[in-house]
Amino acid sequence: MQESNDIDVLVSEVGPRDGLQSIKAIMPLAAKKAWIAAEAAAGVREIEVGSFVPAKLLPQLADTAEVVRYARTIPGLAVLALVPNFKGAEHAIEAGAHKIALPLSASETHSKANLRKTHDEVIEEVRRIAGHIRGLPAGKRPGFEGNISTAFGCTLEGPVPERKVVELARRLMDAGVDDVGLSDTTGYANPAQLRRLVKLVRAEVGQDRLTSVHLHNTRGLGLANALAALEEGITTLDSSLGGLGGCPYAPGASGNIVTEDLVFMLDAMGLRTGIDIEKLLAVRQILAGALPGEALYGFTPDAGLPRGYAPGGWGVRAG
Ligand code: ZN
Repeated sequence: MQESNDIDVLVSEVGPRDGLQSIKAIMPLAAKKAWIAAEAAAGVREIEVGSFVPAKLLPQLADTAEVVRYARTIPGLAVLALVPNFKGAEHAIEAGAHKIALPLSASETHSKANLRKTHDEVIEEVRRIAGHIRGLPAGKRPGFEGNISTAFGCTLEGPVPERKVVELARRLMDAGVDDVGLSDTTGYANPAQLRRLVKLVRAEVGQDRLTSVHLHNTRGLGLANALAALEEGITTLDSSLGGLGGCPYAPGASGNIVTEDLVFMLDAMGLRTGIDIEKLLAVRQILAGALPGEALYGFTPDAGLPRGYAPGGWGVRAG
């Protein structure tokens, strides 16, 4: 599911997965559907709709298979699902996900805490999933991304050596993923680090095998990192509506970068996203209604669009 050439940047909404898994409240299935449908109607072309983890671990995402099946009925929408292991991948494929992403934590301590698996064990899982996908009929094979989480630092291990990230990207490719992504799970990344790591990983796996980054705004550097990624030629940026999820360690900080602010930045810069910013801003009402009391973030939704704002480039026509 790569970006088509009528857009410059693919904004991949991850709120229904990353946002919802980070909060206690459980969003009803009907609200998830309404949220996904409204974002798609606003022009969002890719949504990570859930994660195939056991319901007892993440009850918030227990209905992911149903959400995938529903999202599949929306024309033009690429439906992504996160999978922690082979079993999850089987379920995601069965439900019809267009693309699956498996997280591999660059920090082995984090990997053991999170997936209860060593690097070798995760790579073996990737190999099995890739083999399973190859065995499917041509039209039924989902895209398969290996996502390197804690790529910019880990809350348990601290700094993560860049050569470790490069090595894991190589191992993921060798195990059979189509491409790799870099995730700043912990909000540790800075723009210089991001540009360096994107270059290093691309030198190892190829320019076209790393096209997406997943950013958090824990320390307020989310959009600065997004801009650095764009300057490196990254074309897919993950974000979540209202920055849903927040960060328990950083009050006031959003979780993922905020979709509304990201789309405003891109749109104002004259970069095409295919998204109608005004329609997107209205989708927030669905979140606010379905998750009463939950903090929503973002500057653009609070401040509103600039007076006289013309979608598709701000300042381009002025003066
Ligand atoms: Zn995340």
